[in-house]
Amino acid sequence: MSASVNDAVHVEKRLNRAMGRAIADFDMIADGDTIMVAVSGGKDSYTLLHLLRLLQKRAPVDFTLKVVNIDQGHPGYPAETLRSFMRSEGYDFRMVAEDTFSIVTEKVPNGKTFCSLCSRLRRGILYRVATELGCNKIALGHHRDDILQTLLLNLFFAGQLGAMPPKLAAEYGHIVIRPLAYCDENDIQRYAEAQAFPILPCNLCGSQDNLQRKIVGRLISDLDATHPGVKASMLAALQNVRPTQLLDRNLWTSLGISFAQESEADRKLVGAARLLRLSQEA
Ligand code: SF4
Repeated sequence: MSASVNDAVHVEKRLNRAMGRAIADFDMIADGDTIMVAVSGGKDSYTLLHLLRLLQKRAPVDFTLKVVNIDQGHPGYPAETLRSFMRSEGYDFRMVAEDTFSIVTEKVPNGKTFCSLCSRLRRGILYRVATELGCNKIALGHHRDDILQTLLLNLFFAGQLGAMPPKLAAEYGHIVIRPLAYCDENDIQRYAEAQAFPILPCNLCGSQDNLQRKIVGRLISDLDATHPGVKASMLAALQNVRPTQLLDRNLWTSLGISFAQESEADRKLVGAARLLRLSQEA
């Protein structure tokens, strides 16, 4: 086996393992589900689709996949590239034409980012199409790095502590799932390259370099490069929340907390500090 093939096999295994853990942790897929996989033509959604198909073959539960792409009316959108890929792979595929491009370019002021309005419009269309296709779940391709970036975006620019839910009860009774929630974006990138997915770049926001998301993405990646493990620690933190160490009074109320309990470790630290002070005073 050549080095690159070997590498691709390892990447696929890692992605499968990470996706399997997320699916199990959040009980994302059940017997009889019909899952609509939203494919934008980017590396993340192609990877999600392929991994779900692999899972479908070996999973003990029986579920159906339907693939949907929205042709948002971007000039020069290479719809046929995607159609022929889906045909050649034998996916149950539907392309829905909805001109959100005109709305976004008309409504978003110059210099502002398109993605927020664009993705909200797209989400609404996906919910509608999921109902039409009889899908009870919608799978989106957001991965670990998207989740970490959202955490920092909320922290730095929205005054909120929150990321992206791996599983969400959405409007109209659908459940949105993010099976790649634990997957590393670098692995997804390598997998997409190894599989030679025909990537369709977004020609609407592709030129917007100063997006806050890109800035926090670079920040996290730089930190992780100089302090390996930062991304893993951030993800672990999201799974290890200490509500009493936060300042959200509503959260305290909903948890029935009136004051924070000092932990055993805190008590030991305070005790050690007291002993040290006494020995210095003696
Ligand atoms: S990347 Fe492009 S298609 Fe996706 S939300 Fe942003 S503007 Fe819309």
